[in-house]
Amino acid sequence: MRAAVLSAYKEPLSIENVPDPDCPRDGVVLKVLACGVCRSDWHGWTGEHPRVKPGQIGGHEYCGEVAAAGPAAQYAIGDCLIAPFILACGACANCRSGESNACLDQRLPGFTEPGAFAEFVAVPRDHNLARLPEGMTPTLAAALGCRVTTAWHALTDRAALQPGEWLAIHGTGGVGLAAMLLGIALGAPVIVTDIVEEKLAHARALGVEHAIDASDGASAERIREVTDGGAHVSVEALGFPATQSASLACLRPLGRHVQAGMPVGHHAVQQVDLNAVYMRNLAIFGFRGHACPSLSFIAQPDRSRARRPFPDRGTGGQALGRKRRTRRIQRRHSTGNRGHCRFCGIGGRSMSNLSSTDKTRPARPAR
Ligand SMILES: [Zn+2]
Ligand SMILES: [Zn+2]
Repeated sequence: MRAAVLSAYKEPLSIENVPDPDCPRDGVVLKVLACGVCRSDWHGWTGEHPRVKPGQIGGHEYCGEVAAAGPAAQYAIGDCLIAPFILACGACANCRSGESNACLDQRLPGFTEPGAFAEFVAVPRDHNLARLPEGMTPTLAAALGCRVTTAWHALTDRAALQPGEWLAIHGTGGVGLAAMLLGIALGAPVIVTDIVEEKLAHARALGVEHAIDASDGASAERIREVTDGGAHVSVEALGFPATQSASLACLRPLGRHVQAGMPVGHHAVQQVDLNAVYMRNLAIFGFRGHACPSLSFIAQPDRSRARRPFPDRGTGGQALGRKRRTRRIQRRHSTGNRGHCRFCGIGGRSMSNLSSTDKTRPARPAR
């Protein structure tokens, strides 16, 4: 097959013929229909991503059609699937508590094994995948596996954004724009900042009310003015020191900073104004990826009829579909038939009874 290979850092990817991938026993080989380009791919290309080495085939947010299925696969040839960038084991303590993005034994196509900048990609652990809904194009769906589910997790789970709360987003790349659109859908007034006028114009065209040029270094002050005291939630979506400090500085007392941008390489260690954190009672959330059930949940074409993972609590999806008040998605699996999580298939008996030593195999996901 042909693949785009990182032959050397900061050099054009080379299009090469490489062997077709072997089919994993517990997964599938996907014929790649679409794959996004993420800033993490760029970090790998520059040599600043700690996991990416020369010879890597990148690409970690993708959608494809099953071309081969292993004997323990949960999907079949011909199925069209969306992949999250973290392939969680489904058996460790974090997976079993619903925190699959913090899996202790992750597989990462595109970073540590061949990714989807290729005609085919091997995807083990296919219980992590979600079916491509009818009516959704593979190009749109591919973005769900990284930027969109990451933004969703950040807003609904980590920061617990409430309708009516001011949301500031620093950087309008993939995850920043996804957070902006989801924030608007969740009923938050949203402000975005960037230093590129073209990107600010694009954000305005997508419906954001306030798009601030941050090139003068005064974006935090202007956000505090617009919000009459500061944002409730601020998302750093770049990984840079300037946007990190602006994100903390734009918050009102008791505000929540969420670190969506990946601070890596020469930006891995940054100065943080801990006096501001202390004096204004701020919270700092780190996160990466998404936890069950966000991929399957977001990938439902009609959210107004979406299955509700936590019927007694309400869901973010409810707010997306009906604009009702949303409540925080609890980081728990949804108990479906026979006690299995209806989204990722993990379980086998009462979720509340699961222990980290329980080795029940993930079951076939509900369809
Ligand atoms: Zn990514
Ligand atoms: Zn795990």
